[in-house]
Amino acid sequence: MKININEIPEYGLSLDVHEEGSVLNERAGGTLDFSFLAPVTSHIEITKQGRSFFITGDIKTSLRLVCGRCAKEYDYDYDAPFSAYYERVGKGEKEQELHPEDLEVNFIEGDELDTADLLLGQIVFELPMQPLCSENCKGLCPKCGADLNLGDCGCKPEEKAETKAGSKFAKLKDLKIK
Ligand SMILES: [Zn+2]
Ligand SMILES: [Zn+2]
Repeated sequence: MKININEIPEYGLSLDVHEEGSVLNERAGGTLDFSFLAPVTSHIEITKQGRSFFITGDIKTSLRLVCGRCAKEYDYDYDAPFSAYYERVGKGEKEQELHPEDLEVNFIEGDELDTADLLLGQIVFELPMQPLCSENCKGLCPKCGADLNLGDCGCKPEEKAETKAGSKFAKLKDLKIK
């Protein structure tokens, strides 16, 4: 949904937004390490002051994430509040105005605020770098690659303690021997 920021009244704007998951998947152009299982619904409130726009709201959707330890896909109900600060800039002005302290600032070029970009950005920002299927996920054995959540693989503890790089090396060694 595109909001014409010129039409945001002085007293602010409050609205419900609905974006199809498929649209957001597409918008991200295959760069996401998760996918949307459901539409994204959000209630947002926008207040403005001159060229500045402050947006708060909540986002609800359902995601399919990949566990950072065991690489298994799992479903995740996303439900989180957010707040974002936007500043309106003229076309091409963005680069010149970007200072390190502006990293928390988003920019609106032109007259339109695209809620698909807004919601996608907030979700990507909010998700953990390493999502876990469960707090206690045991991950994969670095030696043999077995899913340790399904039971012990029989490797010795010191082999399991190997780093990821070490496990690759171990696999190479195995291949050479074969
Ligand atoms: Zn896991
Ligand atoms: Zn193992």
